[in-house]
Amino acid sequence: MVIKCNSCKKEILNDSRTAKFPCPGCGKETIVRCSECRKKSIKYECKCGFVGP
Ligand SMILES: [Zn+2]
Ligand SMILES: [Zn+2]
Repeated sequence: MVIKCNSCKKEILNDSRTAKFPCPGCGKETIVRCSECRKKSIKYECKCGFVGP
């Protein structure tokens, strides 16, 4: 299964600093953010329309 960063859409490969958490908006989708996007505080957007920092 390929995991992609929710912000930059890059594939996550053995990145231990990747953040994975359920969407605070709907709680159904899983938000994945790579360490790069976390560092730069790039926003993510869930399918439900929730946008987070
Ligand atoms: Zn990313
Ligand atoms: Zn959501």
